[in-house]
Amino acid sequence: MSIPAYEVKDINLAPYGKEKIEWAYRNMPVLRAIEKELIDEQPFKGMKISVSVHVEAKTACLARALARGGADVALTGCNPLSTQDDVAAALAASGDLHVYAVHGVDEKDYIKHLKMALDFVPDIVIDDGGDLAMLLHSECKDLGRNLIGGCEETTTGVHRLEILEKEGKLSYPVVAVNDARCKHLFDNRFGTGQSVWTAIMATTNLVVSGKTVVVAGYGMCGRGVAMRAKGLGAKVIVTEIDPVKACEALMEGYEVMTMDDAAKEGDFFVTVTGCEDVIVKRHFEAMKDGAICCNAGHFDCEVSVKELKEIATDATELRNNIIGYKLPNGNTVCVIAEGRLVNLAAGDGHPVEIMDMSFALQAQSARYIAKYGKDLDKKVIQTPEEIDNRVAEILLATKEITIDKLTPEQEKYISSWDF
Ligand code: NAD
Ligand code: SAH
Repeated sequence: MSIPAYEVKDINLAPYGKEKIEWAYRNMPVLRAIEKELIDEQPFKGMKISVSVHVEAKTACLARALARGGADVALTGCNPLSTQDDVAAALAASGDLHVYAVHGVDEKDYIKHLKMALDFVPDIVIDDGGDLAMLLHSECKDLGRNLIGGCEETTTGVHRLEILEKEGKLSYPVVAVNDARCKHLFDNRFGTGQSVWTAIMATTNLVVSGKTVVVAGYGMCGRGVAMRAKGLGAKVIVTEIDPVKACEALMEGYEVMTMDDAAKEGDFFVTVTGCEDVIVKRHFEAMKDGAICCNAGHFDCEVSVKELKEIATDATELRNNIIGYKLPNGNTVCVIAEGRLVNLAAGDGHPVEIMDMSFALQAQSARYIAKYGKDLDKKVIQTPEEIDNRVAEILLATKEITIDKLTPEQEKYISSWDF
C-alpha cells in the first residue's frame, strides 16, 4: 500500500513553522546532544516509527531527531486543537517525514489521521495519551504486526496501558516515559504550572492576583498549577479525593474543601485530575457570575461542558477561545478552549526547555526499544535509570553546573546497615 507523504492544512504555511521549529531547536540542548548520538549510531535504520504527540515546534524537533537517527517517521496529533498547521506544513515540506495533522479536525478526521500514521505498519509507536495504542488493541490490531514496542508520554496514557496489562491484553512492551523522574517532576509540575497560566492569562487578559483559583487534583500537575497561581497572588483552593494529597495541599498553605463548597468561591477553576465529571451541573449553578473554567487534565470530560450546554439558555463566543454560557439564574459561566487541555488548545503548551527534557527521554527510550524491545516482556516498563539520569547530567553540563560525587567511603557508608 502506498502511504501519502502528508495531509496538512496548507503547505504554504511552512516558512512560519520553520521559524518556530528553529527557535525551539536552539533552546533544546539536551535533545540536540541525544540527536547527535542518533545521527552517529543510526539505531533506527530500516525502522518505522509512528508518533502521536501534540504537533508543534518541540515535537517537530523530536520527530526530526528520530528521522535523523535513521527512522522512517509518520507524525500525527494527539489532540485536534493542539496541532499547529504551520509546524505541520514545515515538517511536510522538509520531506524528512510523513505528517498527518490538521488543526481543529472533527473526531472522524482525527481518527483517520491516527490510522494513516498506523498504515505505515510501525516497528515502534510513540503515544501521548495512548490513542495509537487503543487503535492497535482494537480495530487496527493487524497494523501492529511488526511492533517491537512503544513509549508513552503522559499520566493518563500510562494508566490506560496499565489497565490493558492487568487485563492481560497488552500486546507490546511500552516504556512509561511519564514516570521517569526527569519527566513528571519537571514537565507535569513546572511545565503545566507555567503553561496553564500563560494560556489562561493570554486568553482572558484578566488579572490573577487577588482572585480565587480552584485547582481540582493535587497530583504532579495540580501542584504546579497551584504553586504558580499562588505566585501570581491568587488565593488557592484545592479539591482532592486522596486524603494524603489533600493533607499535602493543606501543609502547602492552600485551603482544601469539596468542589460543592469551592464552586461558590472560585473566579478561576482548573481541573487536572485525569478523572471525569469533576465540575458538573450543580457546580455551574453555584458559581459566581463570570466564573472561568478550564481543564488541563487529559480529556475534555473533567469540566462537563456537556452538562453546561444542557442547562445553558445561550452560548456566545465572548473572546477568541472563550465561550460564555448563560444560565437560567442569570449568571454566565465561561469555558476556555471547549474544556480541552487549556495550555495546548489555547497556547503553545509547555515551555521549550521542559519539552527538551521530556523529548530527550522519548528519543532515548525509543532507542532503548529499538535495541532491546524484542527481548522485553509485553508490559509497561519503567524508563531505565541511566536514561533518566543522562537527561539531568546533560542539562547540568549545558549550564556548567557540577555536583558532588560520593566518595568510596560515603558509598560504603550509605550501603551498609550496621553502625
Ligand atoms: P496525578 O495522578 O499525579 O494526579 C491526579 C490527581 O487528581 C490525584 O492526586 C488524584 O487523587 C486527583 N483526583 C482524581 N480524581 C479526582 C476528582 N474527581 N476530584 C479531585 N481530585 C481528583 O496525575 P498528573 O500527572 O498530575 O496528571 C493529571 C492529568 O493531567 C492526567 O490526565 C495527565 O495525563 C494530564 N497531563 C496534562 C498535561 C498538560 O500539559 N496539560 C501534562 C501532564 C499531564
Ligand atoms: N491526548 C491528550 C494528551 C495529553 S497532554 C489530549 O487529549 O490532549 C499531556 C502531555 O502533553 C504531557 O505529558 C506533556 O508532556 C505534553 N506536552 C505539553 N506541552 C507540550 C508541547 N508544547 N509539545 C508537545 N507536548 C507537550
